Amino acid sequence: MSSVQIRNHKFEIVQFEELTKRQDRFIQSSDVLGRLVRIGELVYQEVKGKQKTVKKLVLRIQMNRNKQVNATFWGQKAIETSSEFSNCKSSDSMVIIITSNNVKTYRGEPTISSTSATKIYTSPDIEEISSFMKGEQLSKEVQLIRGENENFNMKAETMTIEEVKRQRSKATELYVVCKVKIMSINSSGSWHYNTCYSHYVKLEKSGTQYYCERCKEFVTTPYRRFKVHVRVEDTIRGSTTFVLFDSIVKNIIGKDNGERILNEASSTNEKIVPIELCEIVGRSFTFKLKLLITI
Ligand SMILES: [Zn+2]
Repeated sequence: MSSVQIRNHKFEIVQFEELTKRQDRFIQSSDVLGRLVRIGELVYQEVKGKQKTVKKLVLRIQMNRNKQVNATFWGQKAIETSSEFSNCKSSDSMVIIITSNNVKTYRGEPTISSTSATKIYTSPDIEEISSFMKGEQLSKEVQLIRGENENFNMKAETMTIEEVKRQRSKATELYVVCKVKIMSINSSGSWHYNTCYSHYVKLEKSGTQYYCERCKEFVTTPYRRFKVHVRVEDTIRGSTTFVLFDSIVKNIIGKDNGERILNEASSTNEKIVPIELCEIVGRSFTFKLKLLITI
């Protein structure tokens, strides 16, 4: 007998960047999706200012390539969750959806907290879970054209992300058009780099100064340019990483805005993504791409 699965829950999966915006604002509950990377112990936690304790369990999930988040379950939810995962071995890594959470803050980072409505879904048959698992296997990057150049008028076919990926094994250099939505900004690395005023090549520090190999001279004040790694998805849930270079980013957020952000960027905390840049998350764009095949 075949069984029919009835979906009784419509997920509204929240990406990490959106979680940061919802921190401590309990106006809306959040569904999160990620790979389960740690199951904590069921512990008793004292309730502040009260002579009582409450059961607590923490799961840790990997939401994207760079971001993990703690999910804390309280009271009865902690007990249920603990028994649900009690037979889990460390080898059974799974992708899960945790629904209806509040978003709180712990050491500046968002952390999610169960509510009475919270449920956990683990079935790999759920579309959101299977598409996340597919996305995890894709690590190759697609490079973007740096704005207008001599190839701007080259013929370019419109493709989905999956089609773009298939091309990678065929061509050595190819231009295609791809319509995507920006899902998140990769904040593990820097979103800008130092160059001279004439070239786009990243300058290496030589002692206390920078040296441009093309100009053959030292650069006292390097010029910062954007290089933003973004996770993108198309309408059929294909996903990959795009690299948005300087002129593309300035095109999107405005040249003046872009210059100001770059000037204000501090090299000491270069991983902090400015809010103006975060606002590109959730927007859709048609990009013309130059595929670079890495051998
Ligand atoms: Zn130069």
